Amino acid sequence: MQYGLLGGKLGHSLSPKIHELFFKYTGLTGNYVLLETELEALPERVKVMRSTYAGSNVTIPHKIAVIPLLDSIAPEAQAIGAVNTIKFTEAGAFGYNTDYFGFGRMLEYNDIAITGKIAVVLGSGGAARAVMKYLADKEAEKIYLVTRDVSSVDKHFLEIAPGCQVIDYAELETVKGDVIINCTPVGMYPKVEASPVSAKVTANFEAAVDLIYNPAETMFLCQAKEAGKKYVNGLFMLVAQAVAAQEIWQGKQYDSDLIVKIMADLERNI
Ligand code: NAP
Repeated sequence: MQYGLLGGKLGHSLSPKIHELFFKYTGLTGNYVLLETELEALPERVKVMRSTYAGSNVTIPHKIAVIPLLDSIAPEAQAIGAVNTIKFTEAGAFGYNTDYFGFGRMLEYNDIAITGKIAVVLGSGGAARAVMKYLADKEAEKIYLVTRDVSSVDKHFLEIAPGCQVIDYAELETVKGDVIINCTPVGMYPKVEASPVSAKVTANFEAAVDLIYNPAETMFLCQAKEAGKKYVNGLFMLVAQAVAAQEIWQGKQYDSDLIVKIMADLERNI
């Protein structure tokens, strides 16, 4: 079976490695390739893939542009406004958002509860959309979206998570809660000497989650660790969203042991 990743510049993507490990550990046969595609070439590419590919992931900058090219979109992808996975069948091309499932599975695996809890999301970019949708679906008691500029935040966030409160980093200083989630690129390799918030802010939460996975312990996570809090990096999510895509393509569920096995392999190679 043929699978691929549709995106702009894909040179550093870990996806082929993750899917290669998936095929290795499940014994399934599949080939996963990078499909660098210009925006103008996207419609033709998807048309050809309908008869030649079983599935595809989609990344920046095509997660929104691909939507009108598909036959139907799963409810979570519709609400988030972005597709990162396509399943091609004889019945058509169907879009999903597996960042949503990957994020949820990461929280569940690490026993980080959301229902009835106070959650803070840092950054209002693409990744935050899937995170906000999951927090809203899990009925967090209160969700804060933290941005550098309240006036520039996309109003769609209020549809994704009705009742969420959009605040800036100064207001965040006074918030206490259960979980704080970094959905900004701040602290990512090679600029590792930075955190989106101070250690004082991180210490106001019981758990810190960073979507960044390189480095494994960002400055933000080190702050949480030093304050004796629970902390989780984004590697589990990265692998879990890939496994969620495979679950859609294969029509089968895989348990978390497989995610952990693939993660361990990647950790040795990142
Ligand atoms: P993005 O769109 O580039 O940025 C997200 C948001 O971060 C921006 O909209 C901005 O929000 C804030 N931001 C950007 N630069 C900042 C800075 N210098 N200081 C403070 N805030 C800043 O990125 P994304 O695609 O949403 O991804 C966010 C992070 O999650 C990346 O590190 C990405 O690698 C990671 N990620 C990981 C996974 C995974 O599976 N583990 C999946 C998706 C993404 P405001 O303008 O509102 O401040």
